[in-house]
Amino acid sequence: MDRQILTKVQKTPSHRDDDVQKQSRGPQSAEHPLLNLQRSIGNQAALRLMRSANIQTKLQVSDADDEFEQEADRVAATVMRAPDPQAKSEDEHEGILQGKPEGDKGLQVSQEMQSQFEGPRGGGRQLPESLRAYFEPRHGGTLRWLDGARRGLTIQRQPGTDYGLASAASRNKYVDKAIQLWNMQKSMKVEAFVDALMNEIKADLLSQGVPELKWHIKRGLGVDGSFDSKNWVVEIDPNKFSERKVTTVADLTLPEIENIVGTLYHESRHTDQDVLIIRMLLDQKKSVKEIHQETNIPEPIINKVKTTKFKTPLDKANVAHANLMFAVMYGEHKELLAFIMDNKQAIEGLEKLAGASNADDLKRAQPQVKKLAEWAKNVLEPKVKKLAAGKNLGPQEAELKNDLGELGQVTPKLLAAFDTALKMKNPTKDDLEDLQDLTNEWLKKLDEAYRHLEGEKDAFAVEDLVKKEFEKQAAAKAKPAPTKKK
Ligand SMILES: [Zn+2]
Repeated sequence: MDRQILTKVQKTPSHRDDDVQKQSRGPQSAEHPLLNLQRSIGNQAALRLMRSANIQTKLQVSDADDEFEQEADRVAATVMRAPDPQAKSEDEHEGILQGKPEGDKGLQVSQEMQSQFEGPRGGGRQLPESLRAYFEPRHGGTLRWLDGARRGLTIQRQPGTDYGLASAASRNKYVDKAIQLWNMQKSMKVEAFVDALMNEIKADLLSQGVPELKWHIKRGLGVDGSFDSKNWVVEIDPNKFSERKVTTVADLTLPEIENIVGTLYHESRHTDQDVLIIRMLLDQKKSVKEIHQETNIPEPIINKVKTTKFKTPLDKANVAHANLMFAVMYGEHKELLAFIMDNKQAIEGLEKLAGASNADDLKRAQPQVKKLAEWAKNVLEPKVKKLAAGKNLGPQEAELKNDLGELGQVTPKLLAAFDTALKMKNPTKDDLEDLQDLTNEWLKKLDEAYRHLEGEKDAFAVEDLVKKEFEKQAAAKAKPAPTKKK
């Protein structure tokens, strides 16, 4: 629902990451994607990805210099050595990527994907799309455009998620529009660009039975995008589109445009999801009032869904997907999302704490840390206990148990480090290194848990597909006559 943490976590590299950067930065500012991967998603997640298929031996990336490669190898070795406590539960749940069972653990990579990075076509220049999906949002400018046309890759999405904006037709129409605007309307104001894209999405959604789509563009909102289901409005902050000040389309880099295109689609996707949830609840013979009480979605929206004739009834897979979303958005596992949605400021404060370098920074973070401590004590800890005692947990619950368990383990360490730091006299940046690292770790755990929630998993998957399509078309436009590589 709210992409805030996602975008922010990665902008605050920890000390250790700084060290890696210092050692490894070549003459170009581009970084080796392996370093990015490890930094972005952490050792465990990187491990899971790399264990899948033969990524660790086959991953080849552009013409990075030797120093780069060595550093990447070192990171890869570290990552591969790390224990993987999540491997089991990862095995049990359905990843976004599925296909031919390969090896023992982790996400499974389809045959098609295997051939992509083993085959001669790539010539060692292509990264598998699954990995690129992890790199892209985080490292806007650093990832090079790939030479030549990239083959389209189908990511098999989870069952029951092929509705609304997830369809290829919707995606292609939207990306066509985005490419057209980006090419023809460089002097367009960023706000107008957003309006044009949102209008495109709106027309599509309405044609598919979503009652309404509203959006609100406001600089200084603090998050790049967010969907507020209570008011049924997508909120967008153009100040978050770039680190620089941007006014027109021409001010944006291509990766920034790609991110905007993806963000708007992601947030709008949440309306699709809510409509699915409403339909499921209506099918259960719940009244409009009851549904409103359970979800806080405005009654007029629910009413309209009720009177809409949808082309196809929900199938079993749709219902299963809707149930999982309901549980983490409005139901018995809504705690995490509720915390994130209700505590944007506290989370923002913690993000700043990750860069704390003096006593003033600590003082500023104090109220936010206090909020976190209260939430941990009153909500997180009891929740972890409850999940741990639970029997017959479904895959989402097992994952949540794992994710919240890890978050619950980092939290007291973070709080203790904060207390220690508070007692220091005039602490320097170096004195606060532990605190910074723990804060980053905490944010990363929060981000991971958040991305695993059914609704976010789906929205990020749909977003990634749009970004890839955009990238493909943009690359085709930018290089009308691709030269053949030897
Ligand atoms: Zn979302």
